Amino acid sequence: MSQSHPNSVFSVAKFGGTSVADYAAMQRCAELVASRPQVRLVVVSASAGVTNALVALGNQPDAAERDQHLATIHRIQQGICEPLAEPAVTEQVHLWLDQLATLASVGPSATVAAWKDELLAYGERFSSLLFSRILNQHVSASCFDVRQVMRTDGHHGKAMPNQAEIRQLCQQHLAAQLEQQVVVTQGFVGADADGHTTTLGRGGSDYSAALLAAGLQANEVEIWTDVAGIYTTDPRLCPGARAIAEISFAEAAELATFGAKVLHPATLIPAVANNIAVFVGSSREPVAGGTRILPTTQQRPMVRAVALRRQQTLVTVHSMNMLHATGFLAEVFAILARHNLSVDLVTTSEVSIALTLDEAGSAANGHELLTEAVLAELGQLARVEVERDLALIAVIGNDVHSRPAVSELTFATVAPDNVRMICQGASPHNLCFLVNEAVANQVVQRVHDRFIDAA
Ligand code: ADP
Ligand code: ASP
Ligand code: MG
Repeated sequence: MSQSHPNSVFSVAKFGGTSVADYAAMQRCAELVASRPQVRLVVVSASAGVTNALVALGNQPDAAERDQHLATIHRIQQGICEPLAEPAVTEQVHLWLDQLATLASVGPSATVAAWKDELLAYGERFSSLLFSRILNQHVSASCFDVRQVMRTDGHHGKAMPNQAEIRQLCQQHLAAQLEQQVVVTQGFVGADADGHTTTLGRGGSDYSAALLAAGLQANEVEIWTDVAGIYTTDPRLCPGARAIAEISFAEAAELATFGAKVLHPATLIPAVANNIAVFVGSSREPVAGGTRILPTTQQRPMVRAVALRRQQTLVTVHSMNMLHATGFLAEVFAILARHNLSVDLVTTSEVSIALTLDEAGSAANGHELLTEAVLAELGQLARVEVERDLALIAVIGNDVHSRPAVSELTFATVAPDNVRMICQGASPHNLCFLVNEAVANQVVQRVHDRFIDAA
């Protein structure tokens, strides 16, 4: 099996939730993998809908609601087991379903966060086992527990991977297997040094694929999803959105950070550091092509894409003590860091700081970012105002900061709606601003029409 040797071209393929949603979707992906001998490792997400149900279980609902979520998960997994018709696999899936039901009803033993990660990991454990068996109908395949190699810290719910250890563990436990068979493993899931299950944050399977590719020195990561590449904006939002054939790492990273859900924002970090090419395409329509993410691209359009992130919260901290004072910014950020809050945008004036927090992910996980404790600590320092229901729109391109046309046209286009905050200048690749969530879709469409459809 010469193509299988890691020294030749070798890629890691990742399939997202809709790509492994049911038996038919898994069959399509298995055929795709079988037709691409360079793919030696497959990373899968949980089947569509399963992680949401597991998150809901983790919010400790009453028994009736818990049974509903368990029934949803059961239905999805059973729907794949039946046509697969392998009694040993069905038995294993049922065993895990029983364990999951017990874990959900007994509740946390140590910390809630650790218990939630145990629950969440079941989604990818089911899908990887089932996908490996479907793939095995086409090429020799096995299923591998990624917790043996995906070493993270103990920050449950959003664990930080340790790339050096992942590389060492991949070489030790995984590399040799890839020479024998195609290996299928779980995205999103990891384990800390004590072997406790962790997860990388919602949408983290893309990141897993890139981390494993780096750990195994693969040449390419293929992200197979439900759209034929990275588009000029979310195709669900804008009918005029079109696929981008080639995009630079820097632009793609900004686009992912500012909301293009198609790629987890951290995915490109291991890819860039290890010179691994990244491709994004549709598992439903592989012949439609997709997007190549490259170190640089020949074409460097002024505006490449528009991204949108909802559920942004703006916190404004005012203090007259800030006038001519030093260290105020540092104090505010120290409080935020102590509470593990990551800030996206910042603007300052002589006596105030405005900053944004992303509440989208945290709301879905059932915990509030801006707790009473944070507000009380900030409140001791200064007067604090909180505004919710805002959306962050980012215009992504090249040398955006030094082309007056970008800011001029952007604000002319947004003009009928109020811009609540603007950030420009820190990156050559983006200009971002906040608007009310209620008008966000129309603003994205207008900006897209102005820069991309008209280009
Ligand atoms: P997967 O389950 O395969 O990881 P996701 O749902 O996480 O898929 O990401 C794919 C979705 O990302 C698309 O269906 C699309 O609606 C959304 N999306 C947002 N912005 C973009 C963009 N610029 N290009 C392509 N897709 C985008
Ligand atoms: N299953 C996880 C989620 O839904 C991870 C992923 O799909 O990338 O967030
Ligand atoms: Mg995703």
